[in-house]
Amino acid sequence: MGPPGAGKGTQASVVAVNLGIAHISTGDLFRANVGEGTPLGIEAKRYLDAGEYVPDSVTNAMVRDRITQPDCHPGFLLDGYPRTLEQVNELDMMLTASGHAVDKVVELTVDTDVVVERLLKRAADQGRADDTAAVIRRRLEVYAEQTAPLTAVYAGRDLLVRVDGLGEVAEVTRRILAALAGS
Ligand code: AMP
Repeated sequence: MGPPGAGKGTQASVVAVNLGIAHISTGDLFRANVGEGTPLGIEAKRYLDAGEYVPDSVTNAMVRDRITQPDCHPGFLLDGYPRTLEQVNELDMMLTASGHAVDKVVELTVDTDVVVERLLKRAADQGRADDTAAVIRRRLEVYAEQTAPLTAVYAGRDLLVRVDGLGEVAEVTRRILAALAGS
């Protein structure tokens, strides 16, 4: 978990390779569907472009489908999911059904000025449609309103580890792996 621009995607890719498990990014799955023009992509695009969350029913169904694929049997790393309380509850049910459980929840902490700067830089480098100043502002607001409070849910279950997301990519990865190993 962590606000847009915290480095979730970058870190999740490296950490998943390190742990030898599948990396599931709901943002990447949505973007792939948008790119391919699938019905899911057509439905999701307007939300992504506006910086709003895709409805829970759509997102949950996509994750359910993904985590039942064979490469997820040994375990997986979720990146950008769950983001709402309804997704937390749905994930609990999916995991119970498949015999999995959440081992740890990593929250990458970063300062707002840093994330805005990173997102504007990413806009210049990668041209992501949702990295414009107005949409970035909205994505940060949505995160603060809907997702930040969820860290308390996982802290209450004693699953949350907070990791400082500021610094070199390799250094942040080292911190995450150390936090996971310490469990
Ligand atoms: P991300 O790449 O994680 O920043 O996600 C990009 C966009 O995809 C978000 O701004 C949302 O529009 C959508 N999205 C990704 N994950 C979720 C989720 N768990 N629930 C709802 N919308 C999501």
